[in-house]
Formats: sequence, structure tokens, C-alpha cells
Amino acid sequence: MLEAQALLVRDEALHRSLAENLAAGRPLPDAIATAVDGYAAQLEALEDDYLRARAADVREAGRLLLAELTSGGASRLDGLERPSVVVAEELAPADLLSVPPELLLAVVTETGGRQSHAAIVARELGVPAVVAVAGAVAAAGAFAAVDGGEGTVRFSDRLDASAVRARSPQLDLAGLPVRIMANAGSVAAARAAAAAGARGIGLFRTEFLYLGREQAPSEEEQAEVYASVCTALHPHPVLVRTLDAGSDKTLPYLGVAVEPNPALGRRGIRLWLDQPQLHGPQVRALIATAREHTNLQVMLPMVGSRAEVEVARALFTAEAERQRTRLPRLGIMVELPAVAAALDSFAGLIEFASLGTNDLGQYALGADRELSWDAELGEFHPGLLRLIRGAVELGRRIGIEVGVCGEMAGAPAGARFLVGCGVSSLSMAVGSLATVAAALRGSDREDLRRQAEAATAEPDAARARARLSGGLDPRPAPS
Ligand code: PEP
Ligand code: MG
Repeated sequence: MLEAQALLVRDEALHRSLAENLAAGRPLPDAIATAVDGYAAQLEALEDDYLRARAADVREAGRLLLAELTSGGASRLDGLERPSVVVAEELAPADLLSVPPELLLAVVTETGGRQSHAAIVARELGVPAVVAVAGAVAAAGAFAAVDGGEGTVRFSDRLDASAVRARSPQLDLAGLPVRIMANAGSVAAARAAAAAGARGIGLFRTEFLYLGREQAPSEEEQAEVYASVCTALHPHPVLVRTLDAGSDKTLPYLGVAVEPNPALGRRGIRLWLDQPQLHGPQVRALIATAREHTNLQVMLPMVGSRAEVEVARALFTAEAERQRTRLPRLGIMVELPAVAAALDSFAGLIEFASLGTNDLGQYALGADRELSWDAELGEFHPGLLRLIRGAVELGRRIGIEVGVCGEMAGAPAGARFLVGCGVSSLSMAVGSLATVAAALRGSDREDLRRQAEAATAEPDAARARARLSGGLDPRPAPS
């Protein structure tokens, strides 16, 4: 989002109008404000909803530019020093990202919607947020009770002890038979995960470093990001996934031809291995990070064959030798049904595997993950449950850890099934950590194992899900 705003500031039409305003003798801030207003008004007059919505981005980019020129500090949250509930007329993604997430107890704004950029960033950071609260700024008192799930806000001048439903800064993981980790795509999200008590990052999606820009990030830029994430989560593990581009995540600057069926085309490790401009800097940056950060681990996406992993492993090994350091733990994502069914064939080549149930589901059921389907073609399909259970068992046989980082790990029934299958870790969006921890806390592993077994034996998704949600008696399936 920030990259897109930065691109807007470089727009030629905007520059032309700014130059005209300056030539007409207007002072610089005034010339910028007028040019931005004119450009935003043009967008607002368009028919297309999407383009009309970009007017807000243009105005935000103009506001940041003016703030930078006049006050030197563009963030509305400058000066926020202690953990607080922030109440504002409006907030932009840049504001939320300008302070450490642990200072944001909750956010309340008068403008915005569920899908507004600030709301999306708040979700990614795991900060409870309620938007579109008319009159919030005028009503705000010394205390606020904010429920991001229900979308309610209560202000008061006295602390109302009955409203304190602690958002515990640390997850209570007592007795959980599994490591609870978070998925993240930025340093800010990783810090939010650490603040929320995640025991590591089970999937760091590096593609967010590459998207929405004109060229790939340099080795130095990448190394800085990876090191910051490892520092934030230390001593817990950080699984950085090598670039998973292609399919729905295209990088225009690569100049790769569009394929007729990109989801089945060159994506993930296939594209990455093909392009030295992609794997070269990333391998160097990851090995440089591993020199200083022993909690770094590397994960390869969309792996289909042993040969791919052998080539990738050789790249990392050669670079580790060049930098005179050790090789980080190397693992694969299991996103292809054929790999799930033959995970044991990777014996001796990988230290861990992580089930990417989002892609595994779409490839196993032939159901595009971007479309909405009946739940019967979803995660609890009997075939998918068997595939997952079988893969965990194959991993156990070859002595590797098998975790899960697809969306299934972040839903209570999914998490119960996966722990019952014996996975070693669950990695999910920061916002799901507390719910999943609560759904698992105090669970008896043997009980979950029986439930998973019974769910796998059900003939359809609805009944499997009911078993895991306590809707059916979790008696063992007939053998
Ligand atoms: C997955 O496929 O389950 C996964 C976690 O990867 P992504 O959602 O980034 O494709
Ligand atoms: Mg995937």
C-alpha cells in the first residue's frame, strides 16, 4: 500500500500540474495541495468504483508529502509513547506502521470500512479496531472498552472493571501439545506476532517485499528485514519462505510471459530456480542472516520433486561455504497432493515440512482458492483429511517435524484436527492466535487423536467438521 502511494507521488500528471502551479507563483505547499486536490477530484468524477476509491490514496499521499515538508513528521501518531487506545477521525496505514504495534491497544476511527486499508493493516498487526464510529473523537473519555470482534466501543471517565476483558499480551499456552506460531509478511506484523505471544513465525511470506514495486529488493534490504524479524522473535524459530511468486502474485518487472493456466504454471520454487536474479540475492541474504541468527530456517514453496530441493540445497550449501557459515535448517511446503502422498521420498534432504493447506486444498479438489465454494469442497473433505493425516504420518516415519501454515491451522476445528494428527506446530494470522490457543488449551492429546481419527472416517465435510466442533460424539471410528 505504501509503495502504491509512493508511486502516486511520482505520477506525471500530478507533476505537470504542480509545475504549472509553481510557475503561476504559488508557494510550494499551496502548489502541492492544489495539484493533489485537482487530481483527486478528477478521480472522484470517474464511473469506475475502483478508480474513484483511489482518490483517497491520492489525498493521503498528498497529506504525507505536505506533512513531511511542513512539520517533518508525517505520522498522526507521532509522540505516542505508552500503550493506548487510539481514537481518531481517520488513520492511514502509514500511521499504524509508524509506531511499535505494542503501543496500539486498540484503534477507533470515525471513517473507514472493514476493507479500508487501515483496517486491513490493523488486522495484519493483530490490533483490535472498530471503524466508522460517528462522533468517536468528541465522545472519547479517559477509558475505552473496545471489542474488535463485536465492533463495539464504550467510553467512560472511570475505569469500569467489569469491562476489562483482558487482551492478555501473552498467550496462555499452558499444556498445549503444539507450538503456536504466526504468519507474517512484514517486520511490523512479525513484531505484532511477538507482542501477541507467538512462539515463532511459521511462515514469513517474502513475496510482500517484491510486490508493488519496480524492481526486486536488494540483498541488503532483504537481509535487514530477515534480521529484524529474527531479532523480534528470538529465541523462537522464524521460517522464512523463499519467494513464492507466479500464479496470482505476478512481478511485472520480471518480464515473464503470462501462462495460459498460471496456477499450474511456473510458480514458487519453479520460477525462483529458473531466475538467478531472484534466487541469487535471496540465497545470499538468507545465509548472511543465518550467520548472526540461529533461529532462522528456510522453507521452499510449491515443491514438486526431490530434484528441485537438491538444486536449492546446493545453492544454499555453496553460499554457506562462501560466507564460511553453517547451513540453516531447510524445509519444504507441502502444497501439492502428490508431495503429501509421498513425503517420505524426501528423506535425508529436508529437516522439516509445513502443510500449506490453502494450496493443497485447491490442487486436491480442483477448486480455485480465490473463488467461494460450498464447504463440501473445503478443508474437511474426507480426501483432504486423509491426505493431511497421511502426510503427517509419513513425516513422522522419516523423522522430520511437520507443521501447518495454511488457514486451516487458524480455525478451532481445523486446529483440533491437525493437533490430533500429531503436527508439531500451527502457524496462523496474528488475530487467530488467542482463539486457537483457547480452543486447544487443556486438550488431551489422546482425545484429539481419537476425534481426528473419527473425523477422517466420516463420509462428508459437514459430518467431519461436526465431530471436531463437538457436534457429534467423538467416539472412535469403527475399524
Ligand atoms: C498455503 O498454500 O497454504 C500457504 C500457506 O501459502 P500461501 O497462502 O501463501 O499460498
Ligand atoms: Mg501456498
